[in-house]
Amino acid sequence: MRVYLDHNATTPMRPEALEAMLPHLRGRFGNANSIHGWGREARQALEGAREVIASALGARERDSVVFVSSGTEADNLALKGAAWAAMARGRHVVTTAVEHHAVINSCRSLEEQGFDVTYVSVDGDGLIDPEAVERSLRAETTVVSTMHANNETGVIFPLADIGGLARDRGVVFHTDAVQTFGRMAIDVESLGVDLLSLSGHKIYGPKGVGALYVRPGTRMVPLVHGGQQERGRRPGTENVAAAVGLARAVELALASMEDEAERVRLLRDRLEEGILQRIEGTRRNGHRERRLPNTSNISFQGTDDESLILALDLEGIAVAAGAACTSGSLEPSHVLRAMGRHPEIDGGAIRFSLGAGTTEAEIDRVLGLLPGLVERIRAAQGRPQPAPAYR
Ligand code: PLP
Repeated sequence: MRVYLDHNATTPMRPEALEAMLPHLRGRFGNANSIHGWGREARQALEGAREVIASALGARERDSVVFVSSGTEADNLALKGAAWAAMARGRHVVTTAVEHHAVINSCRSLEEQGFDVTYVSVDGDGLIDPEAVERSLRAETTVVSTMHANNETGVIFPLADIGGLARDRGVVFHTDAVQTFGRMAIDVESLGVDLLSLSGHKIYGPKGVGALYVRPGTRMVPLVHGGQQERGRRPGTENVAAAVGLARAVELALASMEDEAERVRLLRDRLEEGILQRIEGTRRNGHRERRLPNTSNISFQGTDDESLILALDLEGIAVAAGAACTSGSLEPSHVLRAMGRHPEIDGGAIRFSLGAGTTEAEIDRVLGLLPGLVERIRAAQGRPQPAPAYR
């Protein structure tokens, strides 16, 4: 039995999403910018997809959704586009220390261009304090970017509170909702976000497509230049099939969202509690409640990420490390480091992310195998067995 517990990395495409795409890759191949029948057909499909996504976000205007190639591109467009557009007013950006690299490295690139960036840290549970965000705001702050849920721990940030702060000061507020869109209800109005990034392949849609929600009136300059596609915000002939596939995946995700969240929460808790109870020297990373229901990040004292992942992989079980780890390195993820975790003390950290296909039998298989695997790794590494009091 192969067990895939890496849904925060990517998900299998829903057959319905693929079916929805196929006609646009075959006969309906028109360019959505052409004015003839083929073009109009493509335009209609594209705008229909846009409508689905706008309505899933609670956006008032369909045109506030800009299709892009990925969550990464959406983050880059949001950060750089908004920071550049407001450059005359100020060059200070606020974000968090635990963002995805699409945001962190967009900020680093802004720093190279002379912007100043504040990386607000998190507490031991991975939570952010809106007051810390408030304290970091300056007169010259133009953009605040805080993720909706962390991809490594699943911890959910209090966006509405941060959005309120940004709005009071006339600062553009961006959120990376790549891990939450399609998994929990999102309403751009109540969250107070001006820019929101999402991605197709995390929600059983196609890879290589994402979108950026742009609140009407938000100033943002494009990253690429060309024609007037996406109203000049993202030039390039639109990928109609991918947009249609994404929209179909969104419709299906919304239809089953609450039931599915509850189903995976029960399985996740079964897995997490099973591990914490059966294996000494283990510890949950991330707040117990304020978390995505599908995600569990656990440290295993006396081990390292790579050994754990490879041992599980040999058994046909796919999980992820906190971050992409270099071979043999115990370098912790920037997220876990910000939470005060140290690999020398806490050991390897594994992210288990469950999804639509996850079953109880799969969870029990992992629970059956893991204690033995961890024991073997600990013995091979000659590390002292953890004290029972560790937890
Ligand atoms: N932001 C977060 C929080 C993510 O988890 C990911 C994907 O891992 C991305 C952005 C990047 O999305 P994409 O893979 O579509 O570029």
